[in-house]
Amino acid sequence: MSDCLFCGIISKKITTKYVGETSELIAIRDVNPQAPVHILIIPKKHISTLNDITKEDCNIIGEVHMFVKEIAKKEGIAEDGYRLVLNTNRGAGQSVFHIHWHLLGGRVFNWPPG
Ligand code: AMP
Repeated sequence: MSDCLFCGIISKKITTKYVGETSELIAIRDVNPQAPVHILIIPKKHISTLNDITKEDCNIIGEVHMFVKEIAKKEGIAEDGYRLVLNTNRGAGQSVFHIHWHLLGGRVFNWPPG
């Protein structure tokens, strides 16, 4: 999608701090980190929100979790713990309308979230 920030990052027209990639996903450092480790996992396919996924996207969702597990280990947060967040629509804090997961770690998190 031409006016999508994350599509621009995926196509490398916009530069940012890349953490890794698979055939389906990229991982980047969040530009405004909310924890010592704050990484975004972004499908290369443009899907606006969780409300827009279809059955054919189920594989991508599974891949996200496998990728998160791998990154958490590499970042040294797997044992202490981490949080995976998916904001859907503005009421939940979504500001970029290309589906992505926040991987947060390196500090203690409260529950319930704010
Ligand atoms: P959300 O509010 O859930 O849609 O998350 C969007 C996230 O993208 C925010 O945490 C932003 O800090 C982050 N963000 C925005 N622009 C960039 C960028 N150019 N590189 C990395 N992260 C970004």
